[in-house]
Amino acid sequence: MQYLSTRDSALRVSAQEAIVRGLAPQSGLFVPETFPRADLDAWKNLSYSELAEKVLAGFLTDYSADFLHTATASTYGAAFGGKAGETVKVRDGLYSLELWHGPTCAFKDYALQLMPKLLVEAKKMLGRTETTRILVATSGDTGKAALAGYADLDGIEIEVFYPNDGTSEIQHLQMATQKGENVQVYAVQGNFDDAQTGVKKVFADADVAAELEKRGIRLSSANSINWGRLVPQIVYYFYAYFRLAEQGAVEWGKPVDFCVPTGNFGDILAGYYAKQMGLPVGRLVCASNKNNVLTDFLRTGTYDARRTFYKTTSPSMDILISSNLERLLYHVSGSSEKVAGWMQELSATGKYTVDAETLAKIQQSFAAGYADDADGAAEIKARFDGDHYLCDTHTAVAFRVAETRRTDAPMVVLSTASPFKFPRDVLTALGGEAPASDFAAMAALTAETGAEAPASLRELDKLEVRFKTVLQPADIRTAALR
Ligand SMILES: *Cc1c(COP(=O)(O)O)cnc(C)c1O
Repeated sequence: MQYLSTRDSALRVSAQEAIVRGLAPQSGLFVPETFPRADLDAWKNLSYSELAEKVLAGFLTDYSADFLHTATASTYGAAFGGKAGETVKVRDGLYSLELWHGPTCAFKDYALQLMPKLLVEAKKMLGRTETTRILVATSGDTGKAALAGYADLDGIEIEVFYPNDGTSEIQHLQMATQKGENVQVYAVQGNFDDAQTGVKKVFADADVAAELEKRGIRLSSANSINWGRLVPQIVYYFYAYFRLAEQGAVEWGKPVDFCVPTGNFGDILAGYYAKQMGLPVGRLVCASNKNNVLTDFLRTGTYDARRTFYKTTSPSMDILISSNLERLLYHVSGSSEKVAGWMQELSATGKYTVDAETLAKIQQSFAAGYADDADGAAEIKARFDGDHYLCDTHTAVAFRVAETRRTDAPMVVLSTASPFKFPRDVLTALGGEAPASDFAAMAALTAETGAEAPASLRELDKLEVRFKTVLQPADIRTAALR
């Protein structure tokens, strides 16, 4: 299987090259040139890690079968507490695919527990001996999931930059207590944009690259534009479908709809890939919060990022430029010239409009809707009071939108974070008083609902805080050159 660039379809690289490089030239994204065919009958009874091995083998054809077997078996077992792909019935016809049973309690673990292994192996196979220094600007979830995935791996160093006043207490402690000899964590004075702008400047700084190259270090990123982060996410769509079929909730071969709380469009795109491989996916419903640029795009064909940015109670979906949408545009239009044109327009003017044929093709697979913070809070309460199902603020947005986009098919909502990662907002939504600390809120949430907080979150206040440095944005460069 070869990969080409969304902005230059003449380019061809292997999966290993795509994963080591991250980004294609001229900011293009790597996409597979074809989709391997799923063998649904042969796959339906596999364990999660066996299924992951099959899906990965179709795309990552330059990795050995032995490597893929070991990598998937060592990733999706104990680290997910035996609950990888856990699919729970909320009520008749409505299911929750709980993707937060991994080590950091957010769905990004599915990719970030596996991708580091793919990167280390690719470097080895390609004979690359440099040290890879990964820089991550994070608003919370990605930073911790990346730290947990890359800690103590050979030939890798990771530095995470998060906004000093932009994360929850829990998210801050998850990062500041991270163990490992190859990790560095910095708070940056300011908001997420300050941290991200600072890190982007370092990536674009030729002097930094030259200085690091002298020391045998190459910079890399861990964000969701890397192909290695997308491919592991395809697996759970299959796994959830098989669980519904097993329970008789869907007739074998009939479609299931999925509703996905969306930010950078990576998670939902993996559902489109599963569909292209032959999984009976009906609609993929894209759920946004008040930052509803994707809702408008999927309805009208005009992507217009020139709008107010809102900080919401579902912060991992607070995004105005959804990078992975570019991949979908390539697959449906089949034209890297068109995609390059739209992306140029977006960076020059903040907006672009796709042609009617492209929009119609997108709308065959995708529907969209959005919910603001008040709707999300009402949904948390409704799901708990009505179904005794407790969900976090991101998942709540998807439940709300799912309700408005139902067909005759069963609906699976992707639940992307543990409710205990955002305990104060969840508690308030249920009608409780929010205590001052996240830990008190976790305890109150357990008392109120009977749900157990994940041990990795409950015990955070007992761990040593290793990282206390607060940087000015201008000092990010020095930290990256350390
Ligand atoms: C990252 C994240 C999302 C958005 O996923 P994308 O792949 O960026 O669309 C949704 N919910 C949570 C909790 C997340 O951490």
